[in-house]
Amino acid sequence: MLFGACYYPEHWVKERWETDARMMKEAGFNVVRMAEFAWIKMEPAEGEFDFEWLDEAIALFSAYGIRTILGTPTAGPPKWLLDKHPDIYQRDYQGHVRGFGTRRSYCSNNATYRDYTRAIVTEMAKRYGSHPDVIGWQIDNELGAIDTARCYCDSCKTAFVGWLKRKYATLDRLNEEWGTIFSSQLFTAWEQVHLPAYSVHQGHNPGLVLDFRRFSSDSVRGYQALQIGILREHCPPAQPITTNLMGSFNDLDYYDLSADLDLVSLDIYPIMKKVPEERAFRTGINHDAMRGLKGMNYWVLEHQSGTPCTNTFSPTPKPGELRRWTYQSVARGADAIVYFRWRTLTYALEEYWHGILQHHGKPGRKYREVRQVGEELARLAPLLADTTVRSKAAIVKCFHNEWAFEIQPHASGFVYKDHQADYYRYFHDRNIQVDVISPDSAGFDGYDLLIVPNLMMSKEATVRAIHDYVRAGGTVVMDFRAGAKEWNNRMLPEILPGPFAGLLGIEVDDYGIIEPEHPVGLAFAEAFGNAGLAGQAATWYDVIEPIGASTVVRFTNDYFAGCPAVTRNEYGAGRAYYIGTELDRSTLNALFDGISAEAGLKPVLPSLPQGVEAVRREGDGRREVIFVINHNECEVSFAIEDGCVDLLTGRTIRGVTSLAANGILALERSNESISQ
Ligand SMILES: [Zn+2]
Repeated sequence: MLFGACYYPEHWVKERWETDARMMKEAGFNVVRMAEFAWIKMEPAEGEFDFEWLDEAIALFSAYGIRTILGTPTAGPPKWLLDKHPDIYQRDYQGHVRGFGTRRSYCSNNATYRDYTRAIVTEMAKRYGSHPDVIGWQIDNELGAIDTARCYCDSCKTAFVGWLKRKYATLDRLNEEWGTIFSSQLFTAWEQVHLPAYSVHQGHNPGLVLDFRRFSSDSVRGYQALQIGILREHCPPAQPITTNLMGSFNDLDYYDLSADLDLVSLDIYPIMKKVPEERAFRTGINHDAMRGLKGMNYWVLEHQSGTPCTNTFSPTPKPGELRRWTYQSVARGADAIVYFRWRTLTYALEEYWHGILQHHGKPGRKYREVRQVGEELARLAPLLADTTVRSKAAIVKCFHNEWAFEIQPHASGFVYKDHQADYYRYFHDRNIQVDVISPDSAGFDGYDLLIVPNLMMSKEATVRAIHDYVRAGGTVVMDFRAGAKEWNNRMLPEILPGPFAGLLGIEVDDYGIIEPEHPVGLAFAEAFGNAGLAGQAATWYDVIEPIGASTVVRFTNDYFAGCPAVTRNEYGAGRAYYIGTELDRSTLNALFDGISAEAGLKPVLPSLPQGVEAVRREGDGRREVIFVINHNECEVSFAIEDGCVDLLTGRTIRGVTSLAANGILALERSNESISQ
């Protein structure tokens, strides 16, 4: 278990470094992240490299048992470089140059910038590739962040045309796939192909826009691959290569990006989530999505440690909150906790982005809290080694469908990831572990329940995998817009839900949006003992005709009153559910209580109070640690039937126990209960 903070020696006088290293050691730190914005210090003028200050810092921290993860500095190119080559700057969709002043203003397709990237990364890799105190590499910083995933410059236009030629081979094929005959947009030469830049309102061709998003994601992936290639050439496997991803950020296909990395890393700021009672599940889904990218544990390279603020403040973490969120990260599969940042900077854009230490640099309540976590994690670490979260349920998240829904949200205000989070919340509230996985996952066989929201576009392999999964006994839940489009974002000329009609045992010929001013009611049919239970539909309705499926929930008004809103179909040895609307919370809970019970899913611990999260990390044999986290602002009580030992206190727990606000249990089953 790595435990530490982001530390920037270039921000502080050298005389201070040792004080910081000593305080970190006393807090149980064993790692710092450095250098990801220090290009100007490492290459103050073109071709003149200076690493002595970094050598010195790495050595000093090493003397205190703290090793270093190095960031490549390409998110912040120096002014001398950009002044010399202003064509490196991104252009926004109105053609404006995105000039110097913050960060990330480079175009990842710019050949000149790739040359400079190659030079600085090679110098770093050669110097630190065999350094015993460098234990990993972070590429760049938050790739694509602050709206920099897509650039509309000439380099990108040229690269986009090349990308399209590789994809479609002929212009005729591109014209056909996008349907450019509409509005006389047919291309008669490759040079005519344009970027989806500023134009008259209504938006561009959906096929063009989706392909541009795919191209933009591929461009960043290619830029990352350039750096990975250099690092692999000079660095041993003992220095894993990662980059810090951002949870629900969706401008890049994180499955693609992480496929090229040794491991995934996450930046997480739970208290920036606006609604306090939603923070636990909204942060939880980000952790689970990161674990799902490679199906393995991950690092947190920026963990909230204070009040985030660029210009306006997010809430300040109250006493006990940093510890609580840290344990949520560890529970859900983080094997490194690196707080952002060590000490709050006294100047520049992040002077209010608070770290563990306030501006004055003396130990305060956050330091004491983090030190407590350090002591605890040092004890837990051996028990957590080679453990991870294993789930019997999974939610399929697809970036391409998410992009398609961003391009055309269908209903005003509809957001793909919020809809996913609605399903996720059920599992989080019930403490049933759920993975978040790619539609391209090797197979769904290990799961008893698969939720596939909004699978509007799907590759043939995914269609086949879902059918195979259900045929072999799995339970799938799909919902509205499934099968509506081809992979290139044009409509599939088939009755809905297209390739899933047989699986789901339904046909949908008619559909529409549900406006908030004209509410539509729901009522359960006989299923799951909920007969007559009433609820509300929102956002969308499908007028479903069952072709073999049975009705689970019906609409109760409008012209489709009495028609199914939720159906269930037996298929092979399994079951396929279809939800033709957005369900209110209580209907969704009642439905999924039934589906989960039918699929044999069980909570980590039964009957926990609301706001108490339980997650199991398990290893080989019967080794496991169950984390119980009280997100409430008050003490709660609950019963633990099996005898357990709380590894944090050494206390044996059986029967009713209480847990204070922000309280944590790290439970290991006692020998007595294991032998039963
Ligand atoms: Zn560009």
